[in-house]
Amino acid sequence: MPAEVEVALIGGGIMSATIGTLLALLEPGWQIAVFERLDVVAQESSAAWNNAGTGHAAYCELNYTPVLDDIPGLDDIPDLDGTSSLGNSPLADTPYPDASQGPQSPPSKWRIDTTKAKTINKEFQTSLNLWSHLAAQNIIKPQEFISRVPHLTFVEGAEDVSFLRARYEALHSEAGFQHLEYSSDPEVIAKWAPLVVKGRSDSPIAATREVHGTDVNFGELSAQLFTALAGRGAQIYLETEVVALTKQNDRWCLQLYNRKTKQTSNVLARFVFVGAGGGTLPLLQKAKLPEIKGYAGFPISGRFLKCTNPEVIRQHHAKVYAKAALGAPPMSVPHLDTRIIDGRLQLVFGPYAGFTPAYLKYGQKLGLFRSLRWHNIIPMLSAGLANIGLTKYLIKEVFASKRKRIAALQQLFPTAQAQDWELTTAGQRVQIIKPIRKHGMGTLAFGTEIVTAADGSMAGLLGASPGASTAVAIAVETLNRCFPTKYLTWLPHLNDMLSEHTQPSTNLF
Ligand SMILES: Cc1cc2nc3c(=O)[nH]c(=O)nc-3n(C[C@H](O)[C@H](O)[C@H](O)COP(=O)(O)OP(=O)(O)OC[C@H]3O[C@@H](n4cnc5c(N)ncnc54)[C@H](O)[C@@H]3O)c2cc1C
Repeated sequence: MPAEVEVALIGGGIMSATIGTLLALLEPGWQIAVFERLDVVAQESSAAWNNAGTGHAAYCELNYTPVLDDIPGLDDIPDLDGTSSLGNSPLADTPYPDASQGPQSPPSKWRIDTTKAKTINKEFQTSLNLWSHLAAQNIIKPQEFISRVPHLTFVEGAEDVSFLRARYEALHSEAGFQHLEYSSDPEVIAKWAPLVVKGRSDSPIAATREVHGTDVNFGELSAQLFTALAGRGAQIYLETEVVALTKQNDRWCLQLYNRKTKQTSNVLARFVFVGAGGGTLPLLQKAKLPEIKGYAGFPISGRFLKCTNPEVIRQHHAKVYAKAALGAPPMSVPHLDTRIIDGRLQLVFGPYAGFTPAYLKYGQKLGLFRSLRWHNIIPMLSAGLANIGLTKYLIKEVFASKRKRIAALQQLFPTAQAQDWELTTAGQRVQIIKPIRKHGMGTLAFGTEIVTAADGSMAGLLGASPGASTAVAIAVETLNRCFPTKYLTWLPHLNDMLSEHTQPSTNLF
């Protein structure tokens, strides 16, 4: 154990692996140390079975394309023959295609906000570009962690069909979405995802498909990145928990506890990245960063149904996302996913949300209560009161019987049989409760947030979604914020590694 390092990365998940990889390439002379409390890297949220493995590119996730407020009067849509009953509404003069020009699709009553979808799509492309660059250099083996799996969105009922059509119209001309396909023809959808159509009544259905979707084993990717990092001289300390952080002039002193030998030791670091997943908030609190004041964390656990019947697994090859249930948090959108884990095809449905006060799957069992501080109690209570619907939803999910879980599965896969499925426990997400500085209240946020010390000597990542897929964009943003001067000198090298033009995705597939 050196007395001092340039960079300390806390946590052995995809976030530390990505930041470490970029720093090792940009500054090969810097000494990097990784501290992981478990005996193997990537066993928490980044492990293959602890997340859904979706390469989130916003192709299929409806929560990335929210509906904007209704346009006044637009509910009154002209009929297909061109007549309008808009009367005196401000839209009465809106030109409408002449029926004599042949069949037209009616103007949509939905106004879709595509901003988030476009951002996530670009961020995932940045991840693909870095992985492609690393694959071309033989630093990682893509065939062991990434596969093409089409991404579908599936809806049922006239209202949702009309919404999906509008979403498709809003997206398919945008860069990154040009290959998106739409169909409301059951025969076409049955070809895309037979299990989803078989046994369904004749109510209207629709789906979109993007054949360039991906399934990613983020655990395998993290492990490969750490192996490469170690090959470049980084030190990786397993079973080593960071238990305290104190600032000593321009260095951070990390107090380490070896869980095997039960010994403690210290190491100094100029820059610390806290990529401890659910363990990040408590560590930033221990470091007494002023920037973390008012933040709290709300843990939501995830469970999946895993298919045990190879015959059923074989019949599905897609990630099919549906609509979230009323009151469900956005990351609980039900999906039926083909996964490729350790070279084997798998079929998984979920996630079912749940609640425990734990911040990590394998530790910090009372994380929620231990993270309470005088400065985050009011934000936490106010966020709780504003999200009673979510609390009720979680309670229902925690006590749901297997019969109820199978019923949820059958909404997407009508002929699913209970005996073909077993329940697995996935990772723990700690959602951010953000302080609203002006009011002293708090709000529950479902994204991720980088918290940085004012002097750039420490950064940590809070939140979980869209998470691993956008790890590269998060890492680049962290470096930009923490090393503003160096960043300018790194830019040409970063552009080379992260640009779509220099990194063909043929390196990956
Ligand atoms: C149910 C579920 C489904 C998901 N689905 C997807 C998906 O489909 N696509 C996607 O992109 N993302 C998904 N995510 C999110 C994604 O898994 C996470 O965003 C990502 O894995 C987080 O990586 P991380 O490195 O920050 O944290 P982790 O992978 O959790 O790693 C943190 C590490 O820090 C270690 N640690 C904690 N405290 C300490 C300490 N004090 N000292 C030393 N080590 C410590 C932990 O042991 C752990 O190894 C999902 C998450 C969940 C829970």
